[in-house]
Amino acid sequence: MASVDQRSEPADVIDPMLWRDAQELLSRHTAPDATGLCVECGRSWPCVPRRCAERAAAASRRPWNESWTARHDLRTVPAPRAGRHRAGTHRSSGNQGAY
Ligand SMILES: [Zn+2]
Repeated sequence: MASVDQRSEPADVIDPMLWRDAQELLSRHTAPDATGLCVECGRSWPCVPRRCAERAAAASRRPWNESWTARHDLRTVPAPRAGRHRAGTHRSSGNQGAY
């Protein structure tokens, strides 16, 4: 019976909530598939959520005034499942007409 709740943060973590959020993302965006795309979101590996989570995990060990931007970065990561369908469509949906 493995459970996510079983994990507790290492002793040197200053911001446990940020660390847990980072671990949750890291547990989903785990590896690239055979084509080099993330198995979770389908973006180029390492995907943006993975890199954000790695930065957040590192930042969770630093004082708040050095880590608060990492929390903001995690908030900008697309929600689970929504990311796969939207990957690659960002740029083409932008300004296409006249100003
Ligand atoms: Zn991913």
